[in-house]
Amino acid sequence: RFISFEGIDGAGKSTHIEAVSARLRERGATVLNTREPGGTPLAETLRGLFLHEGMDHLTEALLVFAGRRDHLVKVIEPALAAGQTVVCDRFADASFAYQGHGRGMDLQVLATLEQWVLQGRQPDLTLWFDLPAEQAAQRRAAAREADRFEQQDLDFFNRVRAGYAARAAAAPQRFVRIDASGDIASVAAQVAAALEARGW
Ligand code: C5P
Repeated sequence: RFISFEGIDGAGKSTHIEAVSARLRERGATVLNTREPGGTPLAETLRGLFLHEGMDHLTEALLVFAGRRDHLVKVIEPALAAGQTVVCDRFADASFAYQGHGRGMDLQVLATLEQWVLQGRQPDLTLWFDLPAEQAAQRRAAAREADRFEQQDLDFFNRVRAGYAARAAAAPQRFVRIDASGDIASVAAQVAAALEARGW
């Protein structure tokens, strides 16, 4: 099983990634926790460049997809082949939301990159943590997070959010929208229900 977590910055994925992993382990799964951009030494190096260097949008997309390829080949596919459960903090949907809808990269180009890089691999379940961009900004401010992206304006995060909505609409079986605007308990209950519904 392959589960990805998605959502705009400040949606509060991290807390729930730990809870989901713990739940699956309790039920006997061997869980591999990983993240993007990153997930291998090479991809983490690319992540550092991506986060801290300025570059044009296509370069950015190519770096993210290059890291994704390394991550897929070295970590995700072997884990799935060994019967493990892969829990990934962001995956290819983030490229459509951030590089595509957020930064305006051609979605067709991204779809082509996705085909080349993933060769059809998709998560079995994508938990999309959705909340208004204003509220996410408040959470980021409270957490004082700062890389070159976290100071983007509300318009940017509204576009990214709309990007996730579009991806969710195009893959309704894979996506579960979690209303991430409530407190931790209410979000945890929705996440648990999504797993329950799949017998996980
Ligand atoms: O999810 P995480 O906080 O690790 O992502 C690091 C930064 O990279 C975030 O600010 C996120 O908005 C950005 N990002 C991006 N495009 C992606 C994935 C992440 O711009 N495909």
